[in-house]
Amino acid sequence: MQRAAALAIVAALLLAACKEESPVVLTPEQQKLLASPGIEVNAIIEQVLPEATELLTISEAQVLASGRALTKEEIQLALDVGVMLPEQVRVATRERFPMPRDPRISALAAERGLIFGTPEELGRTQGHGILLKPEVAQSREVLAHELVHVAQYEKARFIEDFLRRYLVELLTVGYTAAPIEQEARALSAKALKEQ
Ligand SMILES: [Zn+2]
Repeated sequence: MQRAAALAIVAALLLAACKEESPVVLTPEQQKLLASPGIEVNAIIEQVLPEATELLTISEAQVLASGRALTKEEIQLALDVGVMLPEQVRVATRERFPMPRDPRISALAAERGLIFGTPEELGRTQGHGILLKPEVAQSREVLAHELVHVAQYEKARFIEDFLRRYLVELLTVGYTAAPIEQEARALSAKALKEQ
């Protein structure tokens, strides 16, 4: 990618991050949906969960085998956002992130307006493995955000459990309002400010 284009994307991302810093308060209807997403959302999740879990499990193993460890400063950042085992984290840079074999999953993500598999997806976390696009490989903001997701995976314990929760949130209230994403934005911003 051209450097100017990459910088424009990073600028847009940072603007979005600033704009979204104030928390999105969920309506009672949205909270109800998170607790019981309904037949349609549940059916979608049952359909995509096995392959998506497999994809992220393989992807995590690849990142753990080939990625770099965190620096001393990054380990502190990880601890600050609640990661329990920061020495297990690995970070790898990829031009493209792995996508599911089943094209229906990508089609569904696009149809639902999710950034999964699009150029806007700059970071992706699976367990202790963090993938970054080259244009954000040096970004502490993106790393801090992804480290919150590592902490969330640790709490969920299994990729499948994290993913089920995440899909419920994305498919009911959307990316910006999803509690998992709100927590990632809030905790990463707080940790960076305090450093
Ligand atoms: Zn996120």
